[in-house]
Amino acid sequence: MIPITDLSAQYKSIMEEIQKEVSGVLESGSYIMGKHVRQFEESFAAYNSCKYAIGVANGTDALVISLMAAGIGKGDEVITTSFSFFATAEAITSVGANPVFADIDADTYNIDPDDIERKITDKTKAIVPVHIFGNPANMRKILNTAAKHNLYVIEDACQAVGALYKGKRAGSMGNAGCFSFFPSKNLGCYGDGGAIITNDERIAVIAKALSRHGGGKTGLRAYNLINGSNEKGNPDKYCNYLIGCNSRLDEIQAAILNVKLKHLDRWNERRREKAHLYNSIFRNYPVNIPKEETGSQSVYHIYTLSARNRDGILKALRGQEIDARVYYSIPLHLQKGLEHLGYKKGDMKVAEEVIPCMISLPLYPELTTKEQNRIIKCIINTLT
Ligand SMILES: *Cc1c(COP(=O)(O)O)cnc(C)c1O
Repeated sequence: MIPITDLSAQYKSIMEEIQKEVSGVLESGSYIMGKHVRQFEESFAAYNSCKYAIGVANGTDALVISLMAAGIGKGDEVITTSFSFFATAEAITSVGANPVFADIDADTYNIDPDDIERKITDKTKAIVPVHIFGNPANMRKILNTAAKHNLYVIEDACQAVGALYKGKRAGSMGNAGCFSFFPSKNLGCYGDGGAIITNDERIAVIAKALSRHGGGKTGLRAYNLINGSNEKGNPDKYCNYLIGCNSRLDEIQAAILNVKLKHLDRWNERRREKAHLYNSIFRNYPVNIPKEETGSQSVYHIYTLSARNRDGILKALRGQEIDARVYYSIPLHLQKGLEHLGYKKGDMKVAEEVIPCMISLPLYPELTTKEQNRIIKCIINTLT
């Protein structure tokens, strides 16, 4: 059996370091809001060349809290891609705003910047591009459009930790960048975890306050920033200034992430090498290989081909115990949970045409060349 990803193989390669750090946390008696989280926030901000990083409970919360910190809520429109994991759209609806979907580019599967322009109205407040499968979206055009119409850009970089776009990290280019450390992500912890990065002090302070019930000194600072006031506050720490939520990265997960962050570039480099091996073969066959735009470096969170005979390939791979998958079979605008938005079949021509052709292959840093050759051979057999 070749799995789609192999998390236990990675654990075995760093087991001693992880066990030492996790025991350290267990013995310390400090499990929430301690030094491991502070250290991770510092290193993660530095890794992304950003001023601030705020640990939160998961990637969905990172999106919700960033949107709230940007003041986005009821009645606002937020333009996002029609092709992503459900959480992208769910986060927009959970702050009371309406997601407005744009079509995708057939070669990168990322949001089509020209379609964003067409979807802008008086109510548009933000754009949420997703760097899908680890491949950076066209940020040059997206940032230009945002600047022209005075919109926030909140990057969903949950699949793209470490990816580069013209020398900048995915997540570091907009007003805020959101990350998930779900175990299978390129930088995954051993439970749920997430982070927000930003260079905007206002967003950093408000996001941090919101993630901790709007209380304490940070809550007071956030309150003063939002209201332009100069309240002195109450030294009582049970004073709450904003209605936020409880969304924290915990000490055990932060300790794990501190170990894993040091390996991230090496792991991403291996993913890239393996993806390029797939590309070098499949480019000679009637399938579409994933395309990196000039100046971008994808981190291949997921390696996805598109092929007319997608179902045939899927069947052949599964017949040989190779775990290929279909990410994500339903575009967001056709999800039942979003039917109140009133979209219908035919609204996103490219997404609807390309999605039924997509197939994702096993790709992870520990995948061996022998395994990769077995996968390649099986696919080529169905194509010739
Ligand atoms: C994983 C993911 C999320 C959500 O992250 P969680 O940590 O599972 O909440 C959001 N957007 C995208 C594109 C993702 O891949």
